[in-house]
Amino acid sequence: MFNDLQGKRVLITGSTAGIGLAAAKAFIRSGAKVGINGSRNESCQKAREELAALGGDVEYFVADVSKSEQCEKLVSAFVERFGGMDVLINNAGGLGGRRGLETIDDEFYDHVMNLNARSAMMVTKFAIPHLRAAAKASGKTTSVISSGSIAGREGGGMGASLYASSKAWLHNMHRNWVKEFTKDNIRFNVVAPGSIDTAFHNDKSQELIEKISSTIPMGRFGTSEEVAPTYLFLASHACSGYITGQIIDVNGGQMAP
Ligand code: NAD
Repeated sequence: MFNDLQGKRVLITGSTAGIGLAAAKAFIRSGAKVGINGSRNESCQKAREELAALGGDVEYFVADVSKSEQCEKLVSAFVERFGGMDVLINNAGGLGGRRGLETIDDEFYDHVMNLNARSAMMVTKFAIPHLRAAAKASGKTTSVISSGSIAGREGGGMGASLYASSKAWLHNMHRNWVKEFTKDNIRFNVVAPGSIDTAFHNDKSQELIEKISSTIPMGRFGTSEEVAPTYLFLASHACSGYITGQIIDVNGGQMAP
């Protein structure tokens, strides 16, 4: 059932580490062609080497997706290299720092919103013509999948109001895009991870990590490898061709919306 990812052209933003890198590995193992992205050359190169060792067709594209003009260049470079696009995964994102409401200023607002909201919107905007063309050519749906967050559902931790809200913004953007682009045979879904063991949590003490773990029914953080297959499922027309506009929570039972 999953073999329809064979040869699919998949762009994954923010894929030099963590969930994005694990997703890239999963797509390569499913026979897809994968474009990875990060904002730094060295980490892109390192991730590409790791992925090329798996034997797949993979290329890296350095771009800071918090900047619109770099989103446009990223999509153009990907399409030039792979000849089109079947799947877009908007995964780049991050906390961007912690601040209480009284210390949020315009600069911090722009930083967090550009990283998590503008990035996904702009990459999607530039990808749409290619996803539309690929859907038309294949007669199957193409797919946009974004990394949302449990924070977008429950408000986020202390100091993370903007991050959490940027993810809620992203969740809702997808619902709107379903209305605009389903006629073009493009599907839009969100993967909403709970607490996943990546560099995202580097600012937390071991004590805090244990405290959070105790609130998760599965009693531990998830791994990136446990999140990655959900992107495969949502990318596969055979598996999820009738699923669009959904938020799929991968959180060990941390929240059941
Ligand atoms: P991570 O820090 O391990 O990886 C983030 C990736 O994004 C890296 O490859 C990094 O190079 C890239 N990136 C960061 N800023 C970028 C930019 N401006 N342009 C291009 N690439 C950029 O984090 P992760 O935990 O794997 O997070 C991946 C996604 O999942 C993020 O959107 C994050 O918000 C979301 N998420 C993570 C968790 C978690 O617990 N780890 C929970 C919910 C949501």
